[in-house]
Amino acid sequence: MGSQNADSGQMNIDEERTVGNYLREGDPDWGWEFRCEDFIFARLDEDRASADKLDSAARQAERDRIGSLRRIAGWHSTYVDQEGRSHARCFTCEPSHGFPCTTLRNLAGLWRAHPDYIPGWTDEGTFLADVFELGGFRRAFLAKARSDA
Ligand SMILES: [Zn+2]
Repeated sequence: MGSQNADSGQMNIDEERTVGNYLREGDPDWGWEFRCEDFIFARLDEDRASADKLDSAARQAERDRIGSLRRIAGWHSTYVDQEGRSHARCFTCEPSHGFPCTTLRNLAGLWRAHPDYIPGWTDEGTFLADVFELGGFRRAFLAKARSDA
């Protein structure tokens, strides 16, 4: 089972089955998996500070938007057990969704112009290839059914 190295903030991988083949040294994702969620919550904190300067109607709309994004990010943050051991995945998604999961990666993309943003966070080509190998998306299926009719 993986555990977080307090010095480096990276994962020690003791058992392959915990993280599958996803997190390995040399993997392009190695070393930034935790920074993605830290990046998102830092941006949400900044957005919240900016929202507090708006007039009341705009402030409430912005707080609602930020609150929804914060709840989504929370459900997709790194899951740790009661001993604080990281499971190198979010609580909500299957491990096959990667770490950080596709939801967290795409939330990070909201702030892609920020200097701390890492472009690889929203590179989901591999994930989409996996999806299409297994089937596809409902909307694409329905659109094809309509065009075939
Ligand atoms: Zn997730």
